[in-house]
Amino acid sequence: MVGINNNQVLNSKTITNAIFDNYYPNGRIVVQNTSFGKNGVSGKTLTSRTLSDAISGDVLYRSPKFAFTFYNKSIGSSLNSLITAGSEATFDSSSNVSIEDPESITNTEEDGKAKATTLKGGAAFTRIIADSIVGKQGGSSFINSGINSIFEDYSSSNSPGASDPPIDHGIAPYDPDSTNPSAGGRMIAFKSQMSEEEKGWIVERGKILKDTGNVNDYSHLTGGFYFEITDSYTNMRSGDGASEYPGLDTSLNTAQVSLDVIQAPQQLAYLSPALIECLIALSGKIKFQGGFGAARWFDKMKNGEIPDGSSLSDHGFGRAFDISLVGQLNGNNYDMENNSGNIEIYRGAMDIILPALNSLPMHLIPDIIVHSTDLATEYGVRVGKDPEDAAIKLKYPNLKYVKFHPDDKHKNHIHISFSSARSGIYTGPGGTFGGAPIGNITDSPSGVNPSTGLIDIPGLGSFPIPSTGSTGGTLNPKFTQLSRTYGTQLIADEIYNLLNITCVPELAAIMTAISQREGNVSSLNADILGDGDWNGDWSYGFLQNNLFGTHGKLEVLVPYPTPIKIHAWKLAAPAWQYFNLSSWEQWKGFIKDNFNQVGLESFTTTARSSSDDRIWYPINQVYMAYRFMCGRDPTYPLPLADRLGANGPEMQHVLTPWGDYGGVPGGPLYGTKFSDAAYVYRNSGKSEEDLKNWIRRYFAFANNGATSKSAPFVEFWLAGKRILRNGTIQEWE
Ligand SMILES: [Zn+2]
Repeated sequence: MVGINNNQVLNSKTITNAIFDNYYPNGRIVVQNTSFGKNGVSGKTLTSRTLSDAISGDVLYRSPKFAFTFYNKSIGSSLNSLITAGSEATFDSSSNVSIEDPESITNTEEDGKAKATTLKGGAAFTRIIADSIVGKQGGSSFINSGINSIFEDYSSSNSPGASDPPIDHGIAPYDPDSTNPSAGGRMIAFKSQMSEEEKGWIVERGKILKDTGNVNDYSHLTGGFYFEITDSYTNMRSGDGASEYPGLDTSLNTAQVSLDVIQAPQQLAYLSPALIECLIALSGKIKFQGGFGAARWFDKMKNGEIPDGSSLSDHGFGRAFDISLVGQLNGNNYDMENNSGNIEIYRGAMDIILPALNSLPMHLIPDIIVHSTDLATEYGVRVGKDPEDAAIKLKYPNLKYVKFHPDDKHKNHIHISFSSARSGIYTGPGGTFGGAPIGNITDSPSGVNPSTGLIDIPGLGSFPIPSTGSTGGTLNPKFTQLSRTYGTQLIADEIYNLLNITCVPELAAIMTAISQREGNVSSLNADILGDGDWNGDWSYGFLQNNLFGTHGKLEVLVPYPTPIKIHAWKLAAPAWQYFNLSSWEQWKGFIKDNFNQVGLESFTTTARSSSDDRIWYPINQVYMAYRFMCGRDPTYPLPLADRLGANGPEMQHVLTPWGDYGGVPGGPLYGTKFSDAAYVYRNSGKSEEDLKNWIRRYFAFANNGATSKSAPFVEFWLAGKRILRNGTIQEWE
């Protein structure tokens, strides 16, 4: 990425200028091949203005905090590439950059004076970078890992007696959630589809793995490998099959190779990041020797020896590794390759590697272990799905989702591989993973099924694309109008009609009255710190759905513009993948830091502008509220029988999120007017007395232990009185 010449690496001033010239040509930031953000910006070269647009709309441009964070991250990640590229340029050229090592105080001349050590070439280069302003601001982690990896490759200190630097496997901030099954994934990591940053990260980590000496065909680690499938084929599968880990994106978790991949031209691909990190982690625990075999079927494919309809080994996708020798770090080797069929040797190797794998974070544990058939009986496993109580899985419980596959061609090596859905995508230097593929905001696929014209959502069903009045559908167009700003408030009758999509008319009338207390479709209360027994607000929309409450964790169906199912908090933080946020708890921490830095007013502006559009469509607000009110997954459209209150007033009480939680003695009706409910109900041609009777029965129902705290006050309310938050009854002014 960087054209940097020898004159520019002479000292920290010239290197700083060189770096900034690369980042601000003519004063403009240019970032190439971004892979994050909404559709339409992936892979483009972005100027500073469109860079802002990259993370969900124009979130960054309007959000100083996010822009600042992103700036730091992009400088950091790109410097990582710079170190790699710059040091390689330094070594590959005839240059001989040489500086005195400012930290070499351990060596002394014979007279006892401190002796400076000379650093040359790449070591000097990284020292200069570390001392530069950019190096210092970029943070120490990538500098250190960059220096370490350079040292491993290129250290040319001429200090007499200097010992070899200790092997450092780099900084691998594994996901603290050890139950996260996946670091993202893809069928094949095409170089052409990868961001400049990720290519740098793969090479960085590849060098670290290469330096362990455990990999025979290490050239694949930094150089990649060639991949091709005959373009006319239509039915190719990845040999090791789909993953058995829970909670994976079902659109990714398939062995079927997509036509995009089949028809892609022959090109370079990189090895699976999850496999690279698995092997780096293993190298700190055990000895092993093996190879990727990534070119395994490439020539056969080119020669037409593999027909359409075949299964292709995972090796050719860069997701597999064959282990031929295993040993304890300070122990004997179990050399399977030279003792083929020797069951004692093979068992000894497995007894070392399985506990090592069992100790890894879940996202670094492979999907499949192919091993000698000789161990099938004692392991209690077989070809196909293993029994859950297989002896080997009881012994190593963290391997419970691994497929143990006995095979008589695996008597001289152990095969491990990752499925496409768990192959890993780097999202930062030093072995950092996000939780999901960058650029895909949805938790579940939302593609239109071409044969039905419907949107398929696994676990929920198939849904039509919402249509509005203006396009021949039945929805009021205001229900699908973007309401991020104050221009498009709904009047009470419209709110009532909107609520009728998910509620029976009587409950819709009550909720309309509550909405007059809570807000309108563009409302946002983002006072997130809270106090004492109150945990803060990220409440938006006409029902003030609070994503800081625990229902922010829930998966919700948002039907517009195309139905998707997604964790609610991700709609408030559309750049969640980019900032490596993988949970509601992480998002809350991230956003509180932000709040503390910028204050309420600025934060509220940012929170509004940086949220996902989907949160600001009124129909989505009512759908999310449905999930929060009753705990059920809604469907779209929602049949009459599934609407709230459809089985009469004797339904489970559903108004808890609007005032029946602890500390609100007035219950959900506090601060609301019965006249607001009666008004919209009458306007729809119904009788006020019918509404009163329904409400009396609803609040009288106590059999399920969920009677509203408003229940004791209902007659006052129906008579037009005001219930205060503390339960006091008053007249309205
Ligand atoms: Zn293999």
